Amino acid sequence: MKPLISLVQYNGSPDYLREAVELCSGLEKLERNARVLIKPNLITWDDQFKISPFGVFTTTRLVEDLIILLKDHGCGEISIGEGSVQIKEGLGTMAAFAGLGYTSLVKKYGVKLVDFNADKSVNFKVRKGLSLHIAKEAMESDFLINFPVLKTHAQTKVSLGLKNLKGCLKTSSKKICHHASPGLEYCFTFVADCVKPALTIVDGIYALERGPLHFGNAFRKGIIIASRDVLGADMVAAKTIGYDPQDIVHLVEYAKRHGKSLDLKDYAIRGEDLEVHIKPLKWDWGWKKDNTGPSIFEKFGVTGVALPKYDETLCSGCTPLANMVNILVLSAFTGQPLPKVEILNGKKMQARPGYDKTVLIGNCIIKANKENAHIMKAIKVTGCPPDTREVIDALKEAELHIDEFAYWGYLKQQGEKYDKQEGYSWDFYK
Ligand code: SF4
Repeated sequence: MKPLISLVQYNGSPDYLREAVELCSGLEKLERNARVLIKPNLITWDDQFKISPFGVFTTTRLVEDLIILLKDHGCGEISIGEGSVQIKEGLGTMAAFAGLGYTSLVKKYGVKLVDFNADKSVNFKVRKGLSLHIAKEAMESDFLINFPVLKTHAQTKVSLGLKNLKGCLKTSSKKICHHASPGLEYCFTFVADCVKPALTIVDGIYALERGPLHFGNAFRKGIIIASRDVLGADMVAAKTIGYDPQDIVHLVEYAKRHGKSLDLKDYAIRGEDLEVHIKPLKWDWGWKKDNTGPSIFEKFGVTGVALPKYDETLCSGCTPLANMVNILVLSAFTGQPLPKVEILNGKKMQARPGYDKTVLIGNCIIKANKENAHIMKAIKVTGCPPDTREVIDALKEAELHIDEFAYWGYLKQQGEKYDKQEGYSWDFYK
């Protein structure tokens, strides 16, 4: 029998999630006394500059609809687990849970909240020399419901069910996934082998272009995709935002390892007509041809400085810093060429000749360039990830006359950009 995948249009009532789950026989194998774990996507949290939640976080509304469904099924032991990336001291998973209204779900339904970052972990040996530490709670649940958002991703093209499970890893293992070898899209697919999601539901109320954070554009999409087959759910979800499964490295990797088909003809889609719901979304940020900065530098005529494009080795801890540096460098531009400074991040970029100074952001890139003969003067920002203030100071030391308020203003603007726009309701995240 072909794996079942449901595709349902969402119009506001809990009935749509119920329909999506029923159409794919999602709870068929769920015992009433099972320990259920829901794994949403709560990627990170910031109390100071709010993150526009649309297409970034799993909607709290659908998580609540799912809890109601599970309760109706007779489940008594329900947990919600996540391991959010902590971009600021004290703002981890629990802050995300609180900010998105999960604490009221605890009071209302007696569910338990689990911070995977604080939870014990289990060591999973992928192969000789490669082990991943996975949250114990995720390993030990009887029925894991994987609940990603319909989003694109600047490194992996899409971030759906398989990618969402990377949040079950301890921080140290998340960093290992970003090592240049064996590669991000090889590593994280093994988490699914380990935690074995029983059901994957893709929350497509909003879909996000140029994700995974709110710096891209979110669109009201109004669909739910569900399947007991994580690959099948990801294939249909990817298709709705314009991606063929064969073009997504981690889907190819997972399918190959499990001997599964990447042809949608080998899956049974129930509910809506898939073709009707396809709207391509971009995943990538454009960069200058000479790899010296984002396309916007070309538009404004920024020259002198060089910011090579981020790569897949840049992990979540350093990603916000890379974004900040782009904005700050732009703030230093007054129409004249900027100082000859190259700014590197991630784990494998190499300094190029022709720059007076090289700013190296993070322990990884310092190590990768320790014998690079092209570097005239290195400005090293140590840390894993480094402190934001020290990155700002390093840019100043490189004689870039940046305006740090430009970045704070940008973050504020990004957090408010959907306010009062029709179709974008914060009520989904309460
Ligand atoms: S220095 Fe940055 S890129 Fe390197 S492991 Fe730490 S957070 Fe990741």
